This record gives sequence, C-alpha cells and structure tokens, in this order.
Amino acid sequence: MKSQDIARRWIDFFVAKGHTAVPSASLVSSDPSLLFTVAGMVPFIPYLTAREEPPYTRATSVQKCIRTGDIDEVGKTVRHGTFFQMCGNFSFGDYFKEGAISYAWELLTTPVEQGGFGLPQERLWVTVYHEDDEALAIWRDKIGVPAERIQKFGKKDNYWSTGQPGPAGPCSEIFYDRGPAYGIEGGPEADDTRYVEIWNLVFMQYQRGEGIGKEDFEILGELPKKNIDTGLGLERLAMILQGVENMYETDQVRPVLDKAAELSGKEYTSTEDPADPHHADDVRMRVVADHVRSALMLISDGVVPSNEGRGYVLRRLIRRAVRAMRLLGVETAVLPELLPASRDAMKGVYPEVETDFARISRIAYAEEKAFLRTIASGTARLEEAVVASKAAGTQLSGEEAFTLHDTYGFPIDLTLEMAAEAGLAVDEPTFRKLMTEQRERAQKDARQKKAGHADLTVFTQLHSAGDVVFTGYDELSTESAV
Ligand code: ATP
Ligand code: MG
Ligand code: MG
Ligand code: MG
Repeated sequence: MKSQDIARRWIDFFVAKGHTAVPSASLVSSDPSLLFTVAGMVPFIPYLTAREEPPYTRATSVQKCIRTGDIDEVGKTVRHGTFFQMCGNFSFGDYFKEGAISYAWELLTTPVEQGGFGLPQERLWVTVYHEDDEALAIWRDKIGVPAERIQKFGKKDNYWSTGQPGPAGPCSEIFYDRGPAYGIEGGPEADDTRYVEIWNLVFMQYQRGEGIGKEDFEILGELPKKNIDTGLGLERLAMILQGVENMYETDQVRPVLDKAAELSGKEYTSTEDPADPHHADDVRMRVVADHVRSALMLISDGVVPSNEGRGYVLRRLIRRAVRAMRLLGVETAVLPELLPASRDAMKGVYPEVETDFARISRIAYAEEKAFLRTIASGTARLEEAVVASKAAGTQLSGEEAFTLHDTYGFPIDLTLEMAAEAGLAVDEPTFRKLMTEQRERAQKDARQKKAGHADLTVFTQLHSAGDVVFTGYDELSTESAV
C-alpha cells in the first residue's frame, strides 16, 4: 500500500466515524515560540487547552512534522525521520479512552479489502500507564488483547503533560512485532527495534498542578472536558505494509536513496548492523534521503536558509546531506539530481512541490553552491594550518578548528577527516571547550529573549522534546557518520 493510499484510508476511516478532515497545517508553526510543527496536535492546541471553542468535536488529519531532535537517530534506527507525517484523530470532549482504543484497533486489524490496514492481531503489542487500570481493562477485556502482550510503563514513557500546570494524562501505545529476525522476544520493554512503536494514544484527563518537569508533579483533579489526541507515524506503518526494512525504504523516500546510490556508484545493502562493513555507507544514503526530503518540504513551506532559527535547521539539513554525499565519494553538486527525485516522490500528495519547484530548487541549489564554496575556501585555510602545524611539530590547535568552524562555516568532522588524511591530530578537547562556551553564550541569549514572551505553558512539552530550542550549528554530532 502506497503512502498516499495509507493517508487516504486513514482519513476515510475517521470521516466515516464522524470526524472532520482537517488539512495539514504548515511545517512552520503559527506560534512564534515554536519553531516547527512537531506533532499532529500542534494546530489543535487552542482546542486541547480549552482556550478556544473547537468548531467540531471530532477531527482527523495527516500532519506534516519536523523533529530536529531526532536528527542523530536518522538512518541509524529504522524509524526516525527529521520529516515525517503524523496521522491523527482527535476528540474534544467527545469520545474518550474506549472510543480511541476501539477505533485504533479496528483500523489496524480490519482486513485491507474492508478498509483497514490488515495487520495480524498477534503482531500487535500495547503499553499502558502502570496506574491506568481503565485502559488496561479496555485492551484486555473489551478488545481481547492477551494480558502477556500488554506492558505497563511509568511516567517517563506513558504519561503526557506540558511540563507545566495544565492538561495531563496517561497514554497508551501500540507496537508492531517485526519478528524474531529483528531482535529478542519480550515486547517493547525488551527491544525497540524488533517492536516498533507505531501509534500513541493520549488521554487528556487530568488537571496537572505545579511540579518539576514531566515526572514529578501533583494531579489536582479531573478535567471538566476530556480530550483525545492520537498520533500514528505514516512512514512507520508504510514500512510495515510495504514490507521494507526501515522508513527510508518506503515509497516516498526510497527514490532519493536510490539516486544517492547511483550517483556514488555504491551499492545500498539495507543493513542495520553497525558491524557490517556496508553500514556506514548505508546510513549515509538514508541520511541523504531523509534530509533532502525535509529540505524540500521546508522550503516548500516558506523556510529559507539562514544562520538562525528555522533557516538554520534547513541549512544544517542541506549541509549534512551534501556532506554525507561527499563521504560517499561525490564532491560535485548533488541536489540538482536528488531534489527532483524527492519532488517526484512527494508531488502526488503535495502538488505544490512541483508547481513551486522553480523557486524551491533555486533556493536549495544556491545553498549547496555556497556550501561547496565554503568547503573550498575552508580547505585552503586548513591546508595552510596543516603545513604550519607540521613545521612547528604540533597538532592542529583547537582554536584553529574553532575558527574554521565559526568563521568559515567549515564543519569539524571535515577538519578531523582532512587533518587525519594529512597525518595530523586535532586538539579536539580545546575545540569542544570553545564550542561549549559559545553554546552557553547562545543559550543565555535565548533565555533572555524568551523571558519576553507571553504564556509558553502549553509548549513546554514540545520544548522538552528537544525540538524547539535551537542551540546552533555546534550540535554537529561529530560522532555520527556524517
Ligand atoms: P519514538 O519513541 O519511536 O521516538 P515517540 O514516542 O517520540 O517515538 P510520539 O511523540 O509518541 O513518538 O509520536 C507519535 C507517533 O509519531 C509515534 O508513535 C511514531 O509512529 C511517529 N513518530 C514520532 N517521531 C517520529 C520520527 N522522528 N519519524 C517518524 N515517525 C515518528
Ligand atoms: Mg521520539
Ligand atoms: Mg516512544
Ligand atoms: Mg510515543
């Protein structure tokens, strides 16, 4: 089943259950305190927090999302994209736990010929909050999930709140068992690669009081109007239904991966095993496929590369994609080949990526060109520094690496790699120290800025998910392969 058909089937199912289909909002969230739309619920925040009266009591959507907090997982796990689509159904004071659980089970397990996704029941595991006996009883007694496939988790995994006084409540998640070839038995508790989380059902039920963070707080009482917020990862379901190994091999992403393989002349082997010699290259191709798509969708939604905020995230995605291609052996401009592949894979659902492609591609190609120039000029400076360090019999100083990064925009991993090629070590601890100092300065600035904003309460959960606070180009993840 194609991704597009999954989305359509989702909407059809919930519309048939009385939900209003709401088109995806932009990736650029309308609230200034939130960089991106990180979940399907974001456009509904005013209704979920009862600040505004919703025009419907049931809604459904397939929402475009960006989670920059997951960037270092991309390509290494099977299930994390920086861009993905979250299918959701929402109830504003209408149905609650039993409704949400019954709908989820019905849609997942109804045979494909009858409008469902046809997943075998015995492959599905569920988790509940350990004190949520009500959800447990619904799963076990009403739906009939065997008790041994229901696991109980604590606050950290199965409780939602904003991190501040406001709505809160337990969640229940559905996992798909990919089978013994993918890991050890024992449910999501034992192995989150074999058992892939596909759907989160949040039961907004309580009024949360003061407390610390997401785990240590008091519950003041029940909410007068209880809400349902659910989210299923479209790409994760597509990966299962299309019988592929990971989300980067699904129909909306794979063509870019194939193009990266073609351009580099490297074979993509689909391995998840870090010990496999093909793993590093496979990860790079998956990163390229993910990041190119995210860049396409971000520019399509009006983001342009810059040195801060959303534009910086876009810049970083493009640079990481270019960098990964370079590590695959391609040093010329790659986006003119890769971006059209992503456009063609996405235009069925998002026709604007085609109609607006002249603008989108102009921005993307210019950014790549600028980065290639940065690489060229940084390389000249680095080569001089290498000669000087060698003559002095020292390693390449941390200050030099920092200047290359900070002034020339030359990534540290490139410095490390090229210095190593020249037989020179880099004083990384000093580089790190300088980066930390810079980050602390930036965070202090950000804090001062933020204090000026109005009520940020409802966004704290999103902030704490690591998707909002942007600390700079320094989170380069030099440990990662790209
Ligand atoms: P995980 O534990 O796998 O990181 P999550 O618990 O952070 O997922 P939720 O915040 O519960 O995810 O989001 C709801 C659903 O959205 C998830 O069950 C998953 O199917 C999907 N999802 C979340 N993050 C991503 C991502 N980075 N890429 C693709 N799908 C995602
Ligand atoms: Mg996550
Ligand atoms: Mg999770
Ligand atoms: Mg979850």
